[in-house]
Amino acid sequence: MSSATVYLVGAGPGDPGLLTLRAKELLEQADCVIYDYLASQACMRFANDAAECIFVGKKGFSDHVTQDQINECLVDAARRHAGGRIVRLKGGDPYVFGRGGEEALALRAADVAFEVVPGVTAAVAACAYAGIPVTHRGVASSVALVTGHETPDKAAPVIDWDHLALGVDTLCFYMGIRDLPHIVDRLVRAGRAPETPVALVRWGTTAAQETLTATLETVVSAVEQAQFQAPAIIVVGDVVGLRDSLAWFEQRPLFGKRVVVTRTREQASALVERLSRLGADVVEFPTIEVRQRPLDATGKESLARLSENDWVVFTSANGVACSFALLEEMGLDARAFGGARVAAIGPATADELRSHGICADLVPPRFVAESVAESLIGAGVGEGSHVCVLRAATARDVLPDLLEQAGARVSVVPVYDTVAPDSREQAAHVAELLRAKNVDAVTFTASSTVRNFCALLEDQLDEGQDVAGLMDGAAAISIGTVTSRTLADAGIPVAAEADPFTIAGLVDAACDYLG
Ligand code: SAH
Repeated sequence: MSSATVYLVGAGPGDPGLLTLRAKELLEQADCVIYDYLASQACMRFANDAAECIFVGKKGFSDHVTQDQINECLVDAARRHAGGRIVRLKGGDPYVFGRGGEEALALRAADVAFEVVPGVTAAVAACAYAGIPVTHRGVASSVALVTGHETPDKAAPVIDWDHLALGVDTLCFYMGIRDLPHIVDRLVRAGRAPETPVALVRWGTTAAQETLTATLETVVSAVEQAQFQAPAIIVVGDVVGLRDSLAWFEQRPLFGKRVVVTRTREQASALVERLSRLGADVVEFPTIEVRQRPLDATGKESLARLSENDWVVFTSANGVACSFALLEEMGLDARAFGGARVAAIGPATADELRSHGICADLVPPRFVAESVAESLIGAGVGEGSHVCVLRAATARDVLPDLLEQAGARVSVVPVYDTVAPDSREQAAHVAELLRAKNVDAVTFTASSTVRNFCALLEDQLDEGQDVAGLMDGAAAISIGTVTSRTLADAGIPVAAEADPFTIAGLVDAACDYLG
């Protein structure tokens, strides 16, 4: 079989949302992904789990891996994965200061087929996110992408400074921080006005984006004073002045705030997505793992006779997902509910039910067990009613208790367990951030996230410290009263509580508190 095809794929500047559709598709299909430092790492989550992932990163100027070694690695991977797909993922665009051309030449020389998937290059993207259009009618009609790091082994300068300085309106320098004094000196000596505006955009398009503005005359000392570091784009030209009117990315409500999210990995995505879109730097710390529970004989019987109930009640989306999985294992489906009416504790649970073809008959006004009980009783549950509650093994008993007090016969079927996942690595990372006072908020979406958060951090504590102490300075944001009570029991003060008790409510609470 012939060797694999190598795709030289642009990963964009850092925001994974700027990955192209083609890039995402190839990552999902790849047999092997060869990636490096900067933007590409954030996109690795799209790579399929079975792909071989090879890191060939080099940081700044201290190369760990030489370009020749990378070229060899590409050819070698193509031979090993005969007939497959190799993604060579590179930050920004592969052909803009990415040495993609050299890799393509090496592949051609080795007779390996390749294709190129362009990416959003850092200069254009970082400027756009900093409120700087690289061209603008009446202000700049030309733009140049320039290396700020002339290859040191070349004796003569490779850049035609005289023509560049006066012939192009907007100049974008890559890899230029170290040589900034040299760049400024060459431009001014070639006749560019010292009062020309300059901006530096660091980690553009990511939650860590930082922008510094100055003029050619002042920029060297400004950068020194701010200790502004790579990786950054240096943009020179009058378009920089538009930033005052066009900045947007850094003005989003949660920009610059670091938020730790404690949901399960599967469930975090909606919350992470919303917080990120509002500008937060989100750190995922999965503190619960949902495990479907094998049913005992009583449980099986309860599921098989669901239709004999007046009401079937779900108190979480997980409960719905696990119940349907268990029904399927028993050869049953949504018809098992028969004429029983169905209640969901809140909108997320109702959504999960809808995805299995069932429209909830009841969603209470407040998304807590007490409110479910009240609503059910209001809907006629009482003496002689049959109610089945499908829920987690460890949960509060208020719902069955209240229903039984009202005279109902209640069967509780535990369909899943919540356990603490093996998140030791993340726990160490989160503890380090908390210790450095580098966390603005931690979100808690269930009592179990609170308990497991505390348990996972227990090993990370200093002598005599408790989790509440470690949390000092970071705001605990709770999804509702029950979670708030568990936080209070753990000695962690609640900074803000969602209203209503939903993910959207939680995000609003975080914005109000942090914004
Ligand atoms: N192929 C890449 C550039 C690689 S050279 C592209 O098309 O974007 C590496 C340089 O790109 C860095 O030194 C920095 O100047 C710039 N760069 C890459 N990502 C950046 C980002 N998110 N923000 C600012 N500059 C970035």
